[in-house]
Order: sequence, then structure tokens, then C-alpha cells
Amino acid sequence: MSQELADTMLDDQPQKEKINLLGLSASRLSEFFEEIGEKKFRATQIIKWIHQEGECDFQKMTNLSKDLRNKLHEIAEIKLPEVVSCQESVDGTCKWLIRVDGGSCIEMVYIPERERGTLCVSSQIGCALDCSFCATGKQGFNRDLTSAEIIGQLWIAADSFDQFSPKAKRRVSNVVMMGMGEPLMNFDNVVDAMSIMLEDNAYGLSKRRVTLSTSGVVPELDKLGDVSDVSLAISLHAPNDELRNELVPINRKYPLATFIQSAKNYIEKMPDNRRKVTVEYTLMDQVNDRSIHARELAVLLKDLPCKINLIPFNPFAGSGYKTVTNTALNRFRDILMAEGYTVTVRTTRGDDIAAACGQLAGEVNDRTKRQERYKKKLNDIQPLNIME
Ligand code: SAH
Ligand code: SF4
Repeated sequence: MSQELADTMLDDQPQKEKINLLGLSASRLSEFFEEIGEKKFRATQIIKWIHQEGECDFQKMTNLSKDLRNKLHEIAEIKLPEVVSCQESVDGTCKWLIRVDGGSCIEMVYIPERERGTLCVSSQIGCALDCSFCATGKQGFNRDLTSAEIIGQLWIAADSFDQFSPKAKRRVSNVVMMGMGEPLMNFDNVVDAMSIMLEDNAYGLSKRRVTLSTSGVVPELDKLGDVSDVSLAISLHAPNDELRNELVPINRKYPLATFIQSAKNYIEKMPDNRRKVTVEYTLMDQVNDRSIHARELAVLLKDLPCKINLIPFNPFAGSGYKTVTNTALNRFRDILMAEGYTVTVRTTRGDDIAAACGQLAGEVNDRTKRQERYKKKLNDIQPLNIME
């Protein structure tokens, strides 16, 4: 078929894509209403309908005029990712498999505790950073999630817990960006989605209860403090560059000293000076769990206001690592505590449904070409070619 004919056929069938309002932050929604010639306060009405009432049908938004409802129906939509399955563990942990456009699936986990309920949200399909002990990294990278797909995860959890009705029993009180993907490699969409989490007219979560976890994309972390003030977790896993280069390859590009300084700058930008960075350290048998590593870590972190979260490695098929023994875990914790650090140990939850940290794999389709493009994007942040 000639190109001309193909173009004509396309012209005959204009397929105007509707804009998905689900992922628009309050400020982007205001811009949207201004652009379509409506008053900006419509943004507040819509954001409340979507994220407080759980309403996705414009026709049911009774405080909008009929004309506006029809207009929105023509040009916009509120489109959620699709829930494929939801499993509940004996300990109350829930894991959802969620299909996004293109057919791939992501996983999301809810962890109930006595005083809080934490939702672990994904930011990408797969991950290109390829940490040696992470199931998500091992499956490669497919694509970034849109802001609608990220906030859509919180919407889905809220809906399954009947949270949109005032009598809800279970609630999501905390969100951690610790599911699949590296949130700082999907900066704009993650920042937009987190702003909806914090927005009073949406979920109204406190900035202390929303945590971004990163393995060290330093230039993006440097930018984050200008646009967000959520809590920060940094994934270290090693106390020196030699070992970290092996476990977390992005360390070759942004070594420990640079990463830790960037995290320090981030919390120093915050108006309240009581903030602490959470340091995540996944412990693997005979790899990074020796006394010498604990002592080295204590020195490394001496100038960073932080608390340390030790995570026993969660095994997955073919990882090649074993989890830490109880003896080594206790020894590691005691050394850090003796140095004055606050140390917590992450208990493994949802064992029976493979819902633990680093076990989220989802289903990734067609990743090869995208992975190449993505590695290029990563190298474009700073032209130093280590991600090969
Ligand atoms: N990409 C981000 C956030 C997602 S990973 C990051 O790396 O921080 C969330 C946390 O799970 C990280 O601290 C990561 O190192 C940890 N993790 C990954 N694989 C793991 C595994 N197999 N066992 C235990 N923790 C793991
Ligand atoms: Fe990506 Fe985080 Fe897994 Fe590393 S630990 S591969 S950055 S998801």
C-alpha cells in the first residue's frame, strides 16, 4: 500500500485518544480545565470524585453540569489498570497481579501491621539497573509506568478495601515505592503520582508516610528535593564501592560517597530538621553479612542522619545467593546498635504467596528493544558507559 493511501485511510478514521484524568495531579488537572475553557476549581471536584469517592463515571458526578459531563465523556476518561488476580497470605499480606496496557503485568503488595497498612507500589515494568540479587532486575526492563498506572495501584487497593466508603475497616496508611522498578528512572510520572498521594483532596497521606526508595540515581535524587518532600530510603547493601559495584551496578556510575552526600542534601533541604534517611541493607550469606562489613557500614554512615533497615535476602529461583543466617543477622545488627544506630530488621511477610521484597516479577512481555533504548536513556543522564 502506498504511503499516501495509508495516510488517507488514517485521515478517514481519526482516532483521537482520550486523556486519562486518573494520573493528573491537582495542578495538571487545573491546567487541563483551563485548556478546555472551564473554571480551574473543577479540578478539585474531579480529583475528589476520583480519589475520595472512587467514582470513574462522569455521568455520576452530580455536581458537574450535564454539559460538562458530556464534554468530559467526549474528550477524557478515567481508566484504571486491570486486576488479574489477588492473593491473600495466611498472615494477611495481599498481592495483586495487575495488567497494564501492552499486556505486561506488575505486582503490588499490601502489608498489614498493627498500627499501619503499607502498600508497596511499582514504578516500572521490570528494571534496567540489574542488581544481582533482585528478581525484578533479573527479568530486564520493559517500560515506565504512566502516572495513572502508578496512582491506579493505590486506587485499586483502596477500592478492594472499600476505602472509598466511610466505614472501611482496612486502610492504606503508608505507601512505599519499593515494588518493581527504580522510581527515580521514571521521575516525572512518579512525582505526579506521589503528589496525588499527598494531595488533601485525594488520599491526603502525610509526606512521612510516603517513601521513595532508590538504588542511587544521583542526578535525579538531586532534583527530587526541589519538587517533593516525601521520605527517602536508600538501597545500599554494601559498605564499600568494590562490593557494591558487584551487587548494584549503578554504583560504578554513582559511587557510595556521591550517593550518600546526595541523600544528605535531600533531607537537609526539608524544612523540618528531624528527618532521617532509611538505609536498606539486604543481607546475603557470606556476601555482605560479616562483622567487618557491619563495622565498615557504621563508619560510612557516621555523618548521615539515618536509621538502618536490615532485610534478610529473599531467595528466588536461580539467584545464586543464600539468605543470611540468624547468627550473622543478629551479629550484624548488634554491631550497628553498639555504634548508636537505630536498626530494624524487616520481617518477611507473605512467604506463601511470594510477596516479599525482591520477589516481585510480574509478567514482562517484549523487553529486548525497549531495554536497549532504556540503557541509552540511563547513559544519557551522564555520558559514562557502564550499563553494558
Ligand atoms: N529500585 C528501588 C526500589 C525497588 S526495590 C530500590 O532498589 O531501592 C525495593 C527494595 O527491595 C530495595 O531495597 C531492594 O534492594 C530490595 N530487594 C531487592 N531484591 C531483594 C531480595 N531478593 N531480597 C530482599 N530484598 C530485596
Ligand atoms: Fe531495580 Fe531496585 Fe531491583 Fe535494583 S533492587 S534491579 S534498582 S528494582
